[in-house]
Amino acid sequence: MDDCIFCKIIKGDIPSTRLYEDDDMVIIKDISPQAPVHLLLLPKEHYANIIEMSEAQAATLARCLKKLSAMTDKLGLSGGFRLVSNKGKDACQSVEHLHIHILGGGQLADRMG
Ligand code: AMP
Ligand code: ZN
Repeated sequence: MDDCIFCKIIKGDIPSTRLYEDDDMVIIKDISPQAPVHLLLLPKEHYANIIEMSEAQAATLARCLKKLSAMTDKLGLSGGFRLVSNKGKDACQSVEHLHIHILGGGQLADRMG
């Protein structure tokens, strides 16, 4: 998508701190961290959110999460982590390209929202 900031980051047209990349996804540092470690998992394919996806996109996302599970220690998440994916206005979704927030690197708040 031409006007999508995450598509531009994936293409390299906008700079980011890229910690991991493969054919399915990139993992970057969030520019405005809300935890000691705050990363974004971005599937390379553009689609809007966590619930509007095809079977193939769901399979790709499952593969991404499986790969994430193998690298959490390396990402500084050995104590645990929280995955968040905002959908829509009430959840304050600001970028309409599916992204999974990965939060950790220290004790997180026990309440969400
Ligand atoms: P959301 O509000 O769930 O749509 O999350 C969007 C996230 O993208 C926010 O946490 C932003 O800080 C993050 N973000 C926006 N622009 C950039 C950027 N250029 N590089 C890294 N993260 C970004
Ligand atoms: Zn996009």
